[in-house]
Amino acid sequence: MNLHSKEEEEKDPTCHQCDSFKYCVRGRANNKKDNCPMKISPEIEKEALELYEKDDFVKRSTGVASIVEAKGYIKWPRLKDTVEYAKGMDYNKLGLAFCIGLHAEAEQIAKILIDYGFEVASVCCKTGSVPKTKVGVPEEYTMFSKTGYPIGTITCNPAAQALLFNKAKTDLNIIIGLCVGHDITFTHLSNAPVTTLIAKDRSSPHNPAACLLNHYGKTFFSMDLSEMKRK
Ligand code: SF4
Repeated sequence: MNLHSKEEEEKDPTCHQCDSFKYCVRGRANNKKDNCPMKISPEIEKEALELYEKDDFVKRSTGVASIVEAKGYIKWPRLKDTVEYAKGMDYNKLGLAFCIGLHAEAEQIAKILIDYGFEVASVCCKTGSVPKTKVGVPEEYTMFSKTGYPIGTITCNPAAQALLFNKAKTDLNIIIGLCVGHDITFTHLSNAPVTTLIAKDRSSPHNPAACLLNHYGKTFFSMDLSEMKRK
């Protein structure tokens, strides 16, 4: 954990509190905002800019992503974006790190990627058949979830998923519904770059943004939640 002084914390960027569309989106810093990073950390903005010149991966990956964005904007689903990004990067072998709950989706995605000419390797989250208790999960968090759903005794194994793809020498690994945290472990250990195709959210059909929207498809920001909280 990073321990920051109060003064340092006040200088940390808080772009979510800025009307960005009026400022950096139009090519200028927010001079009314004391902690605008463009104003107070120009050396970092410069360092980042240099990476696009000096670091081949940063330059190419960012450029390819922007071209894919422009080509398929609004029309292409994320799966097509992923295919086009992988093609643009000249990747050949793709690793699918999937959750057992999305086995059918993984199968479908593999078929599509193979049709596009990629070589596909895939690893299920339960590989290794390791009991949860063996990796330090207390017994009470095995078998049944706290909400009453059966979840079994075998742990998700993002470490093995990553190591198996490292052995297979995949060019790019694609997350299909790994749990929050397991996805982080996987990304931490993966040699190949990682992208998320499906972000797990069991409360919705894997649409994490759903909890931010009301029944009319608007963000809760448009409602006065302070009134609701007071009641
Ligand atoms: S970088 Fe500066 S201008 Fe852009 S959103 Fe952040 S605070 Fe606002």
